[in-house]
Amino acid sequence: MENSSKNSKFMLEATKLAKKGSFSTSPNPNVGCVIVHKDKIISKGYHIKSGCEHAEINALKNFKPKIHRNSKLYVTLEPCSFTGKTGPCVNEIVKSGIKKVIIGTKDPNPKVNGKGISFLKKHGIKVKTGVLEKTCEDLNKGFNKRMIFNLPYVTLKSALSTNNMISSKKSKWISNAKSRKDVQFLRASSCGILTSSDTIINDNPKLNVRLKRKELHINTKVRQPIVFILDTNLKIKKNKYKLFKDSRKKVIFNRKKNANDEKNNIVYRKVKSSKNGMNLKEVLKIMAKEFYINNLLVEAGQKVFTEFLSKNLYDEIIIYKSSTVESKGGIKYINENLLKNNKKINFSLNGVNFFDKDIKISFKKK
Ligand SMILES: [Zn+2]
Repeated sequence: MENSSKNSKFMLEATKLAKKGSFSTSPNPNVGCVIVHKDKIISKGYHIKSGCEHAEINALKNFKPKIHRNSKLYVTLEPCSFTGKTGPCVNEIVKSGIKKVIIGTKDPNPKVNGKGISFLKKHGIKVKTGVLEKTCEDLNKGFNKRMIFNLPYVTLKSALSTNNMISSKKSKWISNAKSRKDVQFLRASSCGILTSSDTIINDNPKLNVRLKRKELHINTKVRQPIVFILDTNLKIKKNKYKLFKDSRKKVIFNRKKNANDEKNNIVYRKVKSSKNGMNLKEVLKIMAKEFYINNLLVEAGQKVFTEFLSKNLYDEIIIYKSSTVESKGGIKYINENLLKNNKKINFSLNGVNFFDKDIKISFKKK
């Protein structure tokens, strides 16, 4: 086998390991690592959770005998070169005696950003970068966006009838049970969920992850995303809604006050308002800076959906389209009249899935 296809093969194994952290690593990135000797994987590791060992350290530790200097270490993200909750991985790699490191993608974290690679090179290690680069980058869309732009990766999610309505007079749900189960996985891979006071008042959603550890294939506690609520005039009466029955953190963006309700784990953050409500860009900046949100899922109604589109603040759109037609009285998911200058927005298709009669379509910003 050619060297480059061998490299891709082993890097692919490392990406599979990295994915195991998708439901737990935030605010840290997903990282996987394999150590290869004589074309065989002799050890594996991945990052599970912030504060726990990094992927490279786990892989080095998982192999008890002394690692042969001709072994190669494959890692999806550039090894870190700074001391955070754990020590720098580059030191341990140098100590291990390994002479070749293959890296998927550079770490955009300003604390690393090439410093890990130069440290390894300085210590006589051969470094190859950019193997399966796009796949490795896609492992950390949210982390990368926060590191580079100080904003979370924003996914807008909506369930629609065939005639593009988001509310139903006939039943509580527009999408079917399989689609709703899929939404559970979306929530589980999100660090935060954004909704609005209108959605809470109209639908009284729980917005939590109801999957078991077994369904997520994890050993850690199931992570519940922080709930962010746009409540301009603080109109929500908290004791009325299901969302406030659990103890996880909630952040209420409003234009009236900054406060900390420690007893109920609620933070109030005052934000400038714009013509159509809260200043969403500022809201997103606060999420990234103060709450380390990598992946944000937006589950709200027409107004918020339209505002994200019109301000160009989204990265991905996921639509669950059911086979029902809603009659009079429904609400469309986009208010075309509010789109800036009525401009045409082009998306690129990212994927299609079928859940019985429902279709899941995902789009990315072009
Ligand atoms: Zn590290």
